[in-house]
Amino acid sequence: MGFNVEEIRGQFPILSRKINGKQLAYLDNAASTQKPTAVIKAMTHQMETSYANVHRGLHTMANETTEAYEGARQKVADFLGAPEAENIVFTKGATEALNLIAYGLSDEIGEGDEIIISQMEHHSNIVPWHFHRERKGAVIKFVPVRDDGSLDLDALKSMISSKTKVVSLVHMSNVLGTINPIKEIAPWVKAAGAIFVVDGTQAAVHMPINVQDLGCDFFCMTGHKLYGPTGIGALYGTSDMLERLRPFNGGGEMIEDVFETHITYNDPPHKFEAGTPPIIQAIGLGAAIDWYTQYDPAEIHLHELAVYSHALDGLRNINSFRLIGDAPQKGSVLAFNLEGAHAHDVAQILDKYGVAVRAGQHCTQPLMERFGIHSTARASFGIYNTLDEADRLVEAVKKAAHFLS
Ligand SMILES: *Cc1c(COP(=O)(O)O)cnc(C)c1O
Repeated sequence: MGFNVEEIRGQFPILSRKINGKQLAYLDNAASTQKPTAVIKAMTHQMETSYANVHRGLHTMANETTEAYEGARQKVADFLGAPEAENIVFTKGATEALNLIAYGLSDEIGEGDEIIISQMEHHSNIVPWHFHRERKGAVIKFVPVRDDGSLDLDALKSMISSKTKVVSLVHMSNVLGTINPIKEIAPWVKAAGAIFVVDGTQAAVHMPINVQDLGCDFFCMTGHKLYGPTGIGALYGTSDMLERLRPFNGGGEMIEDVFETHITYNDPPHKFEAGTPPIIQAIGLGAAIDWYTQYDPAEIHLHELAVYSHALDGLRNINSFRLIGDAPQKGSVLAFNLEGAHAHDVAQILDKYGVAVRAGQHCTQPLMERFGIHSTARASFGIYNTLDEADRLVEAVKKAAHFLS
């Protein structure tokens, strides 16, 4: 389908909202995206017409719901270029996916083993590895970020050794917007016999993904940043890795047999989906993928970058404006500060003009430390944002700069 931003906006009821008497300009897409009618309706429709628990009943609606749920798994697999639906585990979100991997590898990580992450990781790709440092004496190494916000690839290369057990990197930073060359890095990790985890939460929404082509062992994404509901995410793992990983939660559905003396596990991905899964949310994610993939991802990406560049051109005229993250390969995330002003104050003033941006650490405290700052304001653009909204951002930031100087 051809790309027409006004037509796309028409599918998002919430975008017609007024905030403080002004038209909403929603520029907080890296935190979460709004939902099109197709997604809202798909979830309601399922609950209105066919709903039961999955995998357990023999009655008609149990079968229909199971089909819809497993159908959503196939959609995620196709979306990520995974070989089979069985390579996809449903989780609560990207955070749970990363925790699942880290926990699943517990038996394989011991004292002195090295885990390589980077300074630009989201806390959800830092904290689960700290658990291994605390409990096992594992060593976490942080790949430095250069001044322009790009990853220091030479440093990464020299850090990888026979001690490396895991390399876990963000594909696209939620603050800097930096897109890391995952495909280039993968062979370095493989050569050391280490496991390569990719936090693809932002990348999945801003570029076409093929996990097999990337060459990673694991890839994590979340539904609510892909125009889908909250409470659902997905983990891709190679068949070998999913066999190797310990289960995360114990309970119904994840076992084959339970005896007083021992248990046997179900096959992946069910081994990792204990209890009743987020059925309606998974179906909502499937609907979000159907909706999103009717557009050309390359075209969406170009549109978002055009809005980003337009906003950046305007903001650069403001004297106190300081951009954080200007890597050659970057997506449509614009983190900034106004010198002498607190990011929270900037965001609050923008809100008066109906412009919604985030302010804070963005769950990336080591990155803030790297740049010697406590927080940033952040405008992040999605499929439905317009050049006019970029102009409104610039005008509102100008007013904030004037007011806070
Ligand atoms: C949002 C985000 C996460 C966490 O995703 P949740 O859905 O909140 O679990 C992890 N990594 C990155 C890069 C993110 O942007």
